[in-house]
Amino acid sequence: MNKDVSRIIEDYASRGEVSIATLSSHSSLQILHGAKKEGFKTLLVTLASREWFYRQFDHIVDKFIVVNGWKELCTGKVLEELRRENAVMVPHGSIIEYVGLECAENIPVPYFGNRYLFRVESDQRLKMQYLVESGIKTPRIYKYGGEIDKLVIVKLPGAKGGKGYFLSRSSTHIKEKLEQMAKEGAIKSVDDVIIQEYVIGTPAYFHYFYSPVLNRVEVLGADIRYESNVDGLRRVPLKYLAEDVEPSFVVTGNLPLVVRESLLPTILEYGIKFVEYTRKQSPPGAIGPFCLESVVRDDLEIVVFEFSGRIVAGTNLYVSGSPYSYLYWDEPMSVGRRIARELKLALKAASLEKVLT
Ligand code: AMP
Repeated sequence: MNKDVSRIIEDYASRGEVSIATLSSHSSLQILHGAKKEGFKTLLVTLASREWFYRQFDHIVDKFIVVNGWKELCTGKVLEELRRENAVMVPHGSIIEYVGLECAENIPVPYFGNRYLFRVESDQRLKMQYLVESGIKTPRIYKYGGEIDKLVIVKLPGAKGGKGYFLSRSSTHIKEKLEQMAKEGAIKSVDDVIIQEYVIGTPAYFHYFYSPVLNRVEVLGADIRYESNVDGLRRVPLKYLAEDVEPSFVVTGNLPLVVRESLLPTILEYGIKFVEYTRKQSPPGAIGPFCLESVVRDDLEIVVFEFSGRIVAGTNLYVSGSPYSYLYWDEPMSVGRRIARELKLALKAASLEKVLT
């Protein structure tokens, strides 16, 4: 681990007190709410333009650190303030987008979770490799220019929330479309594009939490991503659709999901495999929240096409707990609160280093 960060963690541990910080976006309200429930002091780093909105929730924010641009997070002043407060940063899906991988990976403030997974998450191919080598069932990957014998989904690098993905059945069509996109500057190179078998089934995103203190993986919830236009198309009778209408995969929201109970053992097994693999491949491995994004086929096989190594926005559905988190904890336990609970348990067990990097 980065020496500066381990020294800071030792320093926090010796003081036996930490506060919880995050950036104002994504799942920050849930994280702050959970932190307050567990009795932590909370800090919110926010853009000046959003401050008014987050002030509506000032009962769950003890201190606002207002910046004019996100990159200020990478500068001395904000970092000093965070460290003065013994802040533990909770990363979410916006952090890399806002401050860039270099800054996010290297800031000398401890993260709850594993900062070494940020780089893996930013690389679609590496991400798939992690899933495959974990022993989790994944969709087949096709080579650009090779034969296509099935319906495939073509994923563009850096696409936010599925924007720009397209479906195809032909390598000629893929080639034409990607060359056009490259010409228009929408993609830099066709080499970064992933061509993946399109799995037909129902989408299901599983929210996990690995607790290093209790040494167990918990399934804390599940959701369905609501996507335009793929989810909207079924509302329109076929006869009204023009032939050239294409499904698209832009995330517009999240729907709650409870899964068929007989699927739960496989779901948990996948989570355990993922934690075990990341422990070897990116030590100390997944810590706290992560998500496996899948499609469940009609033969009840669960095929995982993506992972997130931190809290996902779908957990915002369960600010007051999910049907699963209630089974583990018998109290309203959101993922945000679960993070704070783990931090509390780690402080009590003098094991802060187990949950921070
Ligand atoms: P992703 O950016 O990989 O999370 O994908 C965005 C969306 O595309 C997902 O939420 C799914 O609706 C769809 N999708 C991605 N990969 C696949 C796949 N291999 N099979 C079926 N649908 C997929």
